[in-house]
Amino acid sequence: MRAASQVLEEHRVELSTLDREIGDGDHGENMNRGFGALVTALERDAPDSPGGVLKLAATTLISKVGGAAGPLYGTAFLRAATAVKDAAELDADLVAKALRAALDGVVARGKAELGDKTMVDALLPAVRAAEEAAGRGEDVPTLLKAAAEAAAEGADSTVLLVARKGRASYLGERSVGHLDPGARSTSLLLRTFADVAS
Ligand code: ADP
Ligand code: MG
Ligand code: MG
Repeated sequence: MRAASQVLEEHRVELSTLDREIGDGDHGENMNRGFGALVTALERDAPDSPGGVLKLAATTLISKVGGAAGPLYGTAFLRAATAVKDAAELDADLVAKALRAALDGVVARGKAELGDKTMVDALLPAVRAAEEAAGRGEDVPTLLKAAAEAAAEGADSTVLLVARKGRASYLGERSVGHLDPGARSTSLLLRTFADVAS
């Protein structure tokens, strides 16, 4: 989470610039504020289990990120927390389950499908890659690397799509030619988790 906060800080301007093109220009600020608050909360009182950290991430992001992304990422982390229960350590199967639960939460909350030009376009291929990796018996770093690569490809695929959910959908066809900021932040988060795990 600390590494994620740092990466989001580094990409704050990029994410807000992407959001300015097809939204209201605040995605970088929103994510940076949320993960900054999460780091502060972790410094105050760090939970001693992965599930506890995921739950703290959920509550902090829901209250601090705001906009569309706050409740979506909040729900994602909350479902991930529930999926890992009180495991002391995460193995590949649990990470794959957590990612699947996160995606299900985002979809339940935002009702976006693959191809709607949202964070789902990065998260869904990442979940599939993670489940395939877990099925092959890969370890957590390998699984997360596969998930991060799939997320990056998925995020890139949003450039050619027409937005059907969120603010960008107001632009209709004019949203084509722009990378979705939420898909980009999802890709950055997964790449960071992969880097930290390896
Ligand atoms: P806001 O649009 O309220 O300013 P943000 O800029 O923080 O919120 O987040 C925008 C991102 O949220 C979009 O780029 C998109 O990826 C994601 N998003 C918006 N609506 C949905 C939805 N219904 N389902 C999934 N993701 C969504
Ligand atoms: Mg925005
Ligand atoms: Mg906004």
